[in-house]
Amino acid sequence: GSTIGILGGGQLGRMMAMAAAQLGYRCHIYAPESESVAADVAADFTQGSYSDEAALAAFAAQCDVVTYEFENVPVGPLAALGDVPLRANARALEIAQDRLAEKNFVADLGGTPAPYRALADETGLFKAIAAIGTPGILKTRRDGYDGKGQWRIRDGCDADELTVPPIPMIYEGFVRFATEFSVIMVRGLDGQVRFWDSAANEHDGGILSRSTVPAGRVVVAQVPAARKLAAAVAETLDYVGVLTLEFFATDDGPVFNEMAPRVHNSGHWTIEGAITSQFENHIRAICGLPLGDCGLRVPGAVMDNLIGTTAEEALPILKDPAAHLHLYGKGEAREGRKMGHVTRLILQEADE
Ligand code: ATP
Ligand code: MG
Ligand code: MG
Repeated sequence: GSTIGILGGGQLGRMMAMAAAQLGYRCHIYAPESESVAADVAADFTQGSYSDEAALAAFAAQCDVVTYEFENVPVGPLAALGDVPLRANARALEIAQDRLAEKNFVADLGGTPAPYRALADETGLFKAIAAIGTPGILKTRRDGYDGKGQWRIRDGCDADELTVPPIPMIYEGFVRFATEFSVIMVRGLDGQVRFWDSAANEHDGGILSRSTVPAGRVVVAQVPAARKLAAAVAETLDYVGVLTLEFFATDDGPVFNEMAPRVHNSGHWTIEGAITSQFENHIRAICGLPLGDCGLRVPGAVMDNLIGTTAEEALPILKDPAAHLHLYGKGEAREGRKMGHVTRLILQEADE
């Protein structure tokens, strides 16, 4: 059989590897950490730095295709992968790992991000606030996830009190939204695109807590415009694999938040709730196989993240025979750490 290389060792890689195994592929995980919940379910594991070109080259030599489950992999050293295809490609990775680049890119394609401005120097925050106003959010351009590297700024006083770290930062206006939603799509090697139903996403402290499909009327009305943008992003990048765009549903239509060049937490419901899961279709796409149907299998689904929950605390969920429990096999249940998720299928059509 063939071997799929996966950069990144977290739960997304774990679920990718599980889907790959079903299709007869072996997975080889490459990650800097000594322990990896993806490696726990994969055939091979290389512990190595993302900037170690020799180690990356040796890894690639054992893979037929390489993908990633983590978008903060430095792009330069990936040249060491040589002729082994990287899917999605390095250009997608490069754009999606920099909030300024991704907002510029999406704006050029006709999308609407929140008003934004990159900080050029120490006085940049004040200039940005003068241009955009408050409230707003100051974010690191790179490396942020789960709301890390973000500072909410209610007014000028908040800004005065803040010590802005000396790294690339971006300030964006605070968006007043009805709900948040995501567009998750897959694009095949042949350019075919398919979309899953959009989930309404709820966050708690910057971390996704719940995704629900169907997402409700407000979102459903904005999905066509959001899909059009997502398709343009995928097309322009000649993207292969699963791609996610996050949006705010506002009175003025969908406002783009960010993109993830990968499978997404708000798509975990697809494992049981869709005909083909995001993980399976990602594997199919990067391996050049025909894509599976992204349609719903059931009238709806609700996915709840288990954040900082121990296995002992989570296992009683199984008393609900309709709950699909996923535990990632992580050791310590630290606060804010995604330990698993649970999906409950909605089996009866809601009365309109
Ligand atoms: P992820 O784990 O999704 O990659 P992240 O760390 O990249 O998260 P964002 O998606 O930028 O963070 O922000 C996290 C959450 O904070 C958003 O889903 C939204 O709830 C809120 N948020 C971020 N930016 C804004 C904004 N400009 N206006 C209003 N809310 C925002
Ligand atoms: Mg993000
Ligand atoms: Mg986000």
